[in-house]
Amino acid sequence: MQVDLLIQARWIIPVEPAGVIHENYSLVVDDGKIIDVLDTAAAAQKYQPRALEILDQHVLIPGLINCHTHAAMSLLSGIADDLPLMDWLQNHIWPAEQKWVSESFVRDGTDLAIAEMLRGGTTCFNDMYFFPDIAAQQAVEHGIRANIGLIVFDFPTVWAENADAYLSKALDLHERLRHERLISTSFAPHAPYTVSDEPLRKMLTFADELDSTIHMHVHETRHEVEEQRQKNGQTPLQRLHELGLLTPSFMAVHMTQLSPEDIRFYAETGGHIVHCPESNLKLASGFCPVAACMEAGINVALGTDGAASNNDQDMLAEMRVAALLAKGVSGNASAVSAMQALQMATLNGAKALGLDDKIGSLAVGKAADVVAIDLSDVETQPVFNPLAQLVYAASRHQVSDVWVAGKRLLNKRQLTTLDLHDLRRRAAVWQQRLAGF
Ligand SMILES: [Zn+2]
Repeated sequence: MQVDLLIQARWIIPVEPAGVIHENYSLVVDDGKIIDVLDTAAAAQKYQPRALEILDQHVLIPGLINCHTHAAMSLLSGIADDLPLMDWLQNHIWPAEQKWVSESFVRDGTDLAIAEMLRGGTTCFNDMYFFPDIAAQQAVEHGIRANIGLIVFDFPTVWAENADAYLSKALDLHERLRHERLISTSFAPHAPYTVSDEPLRKMLTFADELDSTIHMHVHETRHEVEEQRQKNGQTPLQRLHELGLLTPSFMAVHMTQLSPEDIRFYAETGGHIVHCPESNLKLASGFCPVAACMEAGINVALGTDGAASNNDQDMLAEMRVAALLAKGVSGNASAVSAMQALQMATLNGAKALGLDDKIGSLAVGKAADVVAIDLSDVETQPVFNPLAQLVYAASRHQVSDVWVAGKRLLNKRQLTTLDLHDLRRRAAVWQQRLAGF
């Protein structure tokens, strides 16, 4: 049988079925989709590929899903560090954004982030930023998958002047992107403390009509929870629940402040958590009790957050930190195993985005969003267990090849749709502009 592509790999970790590691296996791709995962000897008998890729030192995994970022903020990486969240936001990030964020800032910043993400094995990102139309356009242009956040705030920003304007722009953009193969959208109200009840109610009506997911920062810091409690005796989570937001279509990002009761009741709503351990550590926001949340049945995905608070878009590193931090926070070395960390960075992200019928595992019928990591470097030898090497030892420089929907976007470390020289030049221009800020 003739097929587009056959990848012969030393190992394949498909994530579904859970817990499986295949050795000397092949992945067969046709028309952008995975059509078979089978023993390499059997694959050679059965298929005549138009392209054959032999990756005999590599492990193949599903493309990593960065379930929370602000991609364009890569241009602000390193502009203000070692500060607590509110000081960092109010005195540094928001003023810089007010002065500089524009269509060209978002275009150049998103491109920079896409290059970094692809080179690190990320094939899908869940974005929340100004000019989401530009972020979507850049993702399409460079062939990466993206879930674009249709942002909502109470107050004016460069994107819209008031809550109604954010909502009408959101509806327009949703309509324009509806038929893009690699793009989906979510409503993205920024946080409980930046969006009031009325726009949240209106947004929810639209989200219900369009069957759309909702992406929001929630319980990021103790300050956020205390401030709301002093206002009306409720936690932000209780307020969102009363408004009807918490459903299986809801993604709560951060969730560092959770009591055992919060965990129990949030699990009942079917909402998802997007854990961003590096951002939480860097801003000293607190720790999401991931092991307890998973035990309660909550789906926990993984994100890097924007580069201004991380400062990279490195999902391999995020997996490692998530696995280590969960052990430290729970006092249990078995909490968040290497396999669970990989699930968080792939299938759990797909579930949170409502895209698990399309992506998140190397299963027959799903899109060929595939990443190869070369484990032949001395740093990842010997390989008793490719999964343990991947999560606890490998670095993103070992990501050799990346495909999205069967299209090769990274070929032996070379990006096929972005020019590094051009990216460096554009980053330098922005560095010069922002330096005086
Ligand atoms: Zn964020």
